[in-house]
Amino acid sequence: MIGRFAPSPTGPLHVGNLRTALIAWLMARTAGGHMIVRIEDLDRANSNELNERRQLDALAALGIDHPPVLVRQSERFDHYRDVIADLRTRDLVYECFCSRREIREAVNAPHEHEVQYPGTCRELTARQRSERIDSGRPPALRLRTDTVAYVVDDVIAGATTSPVDDFVLQRNDGVPAYNLAVVVDDTEQGVDQVVRGNDLLSSTGRQMHLQTLLGYRTPQYAHVPLVVGHDGERLAKRHGAVTLDDLATIGIAPNDVLRELAISLGVENHNVERAADLLDTFRVSALPRTPWMIPNQWRHDAL
Ligand code: GLU
Repeated sequence: MIGRFAPSPTGPLHVGNLRTALIAWLMARTAGGHMIVRIEDLDRANSNELNERRQLDALAALGIDHPPVLVRQSERFDHYRDVIADLRTRDLVYECFCSRREIREAVNAPHEHEVQYPGTCRELTARQRSERIDSGRPPALRLRTDTVAYVVDDVIAGATTSPVDDFVLQRNDGVPAYNLAVVVDDTEQGVDQVVRGNDLLSSTGRQMHLQTLLGYRTPQYAHVPLVVGHDGERLAKRHGAVTLDDLATIGIAPNDVLRELAISLGVENHNVERAADLLDTFRVSALPRTPWMIPNQWRHDAL
């Protein structure tokens, strides 16, 4: 039973990320398995080793342990491209020249994450294609899909419909896309259970579709409700002390953080020093189904 936590080293982990890691770790361990950590540094321009080190230190400070050998996605680009090439030979891949803005305008959606690709470049004529190539814009690669949606049988969110569109497999700068890399890695690392923030529930249908096409098994999914600040908005720096380092500067130690996280998981245990102290009392069924608001004393105006 292998669980995983897959942070992107683009900054420090905030308490919302740490809470997700803690849940992933507890779910794997209470099922008799363990949790691996994968470094999702596809976005090399914004990822760095210092962030990676700090993220791993934060996990260690809470006692969230994992095998020391880490897979880094930045080292696997050739492999992802081979998988894309395989899909290409099955005529499941096409070039897309659309900019984000054009897609947003075509579907009249204000927010990127709500956008379903409308298929603009799916059936370009040879002439349209060469015009676009001549305009100098490099193409992204998209998956040709006819599947509309999958139902995710989510351990926390319940049965949820997650749409599938012709999503990107490789960005127009040549970087393999998140949905492709995550599916390949989860399978090749033998991941049985994916625990992550529920902002990714809307991408899960796409991932399940790729698993189906590639003959992979679908892991169990558990999408954790978001952590929010006092305004009810998704947790961000402006909400105050949101990393272990910030919290340490206002006198809140890692085990204090762990105690607050334990309460937020519905675990009654006041003597928590390390993640392992929660193993006896943690129950997936006790996890709240609603967003968790960070404690008052972590607010910015209390700093
Ligand atoms: N790397 C993603 C993130 O940090 C998580 C991806 C996943 O868990 O599937 O948001």
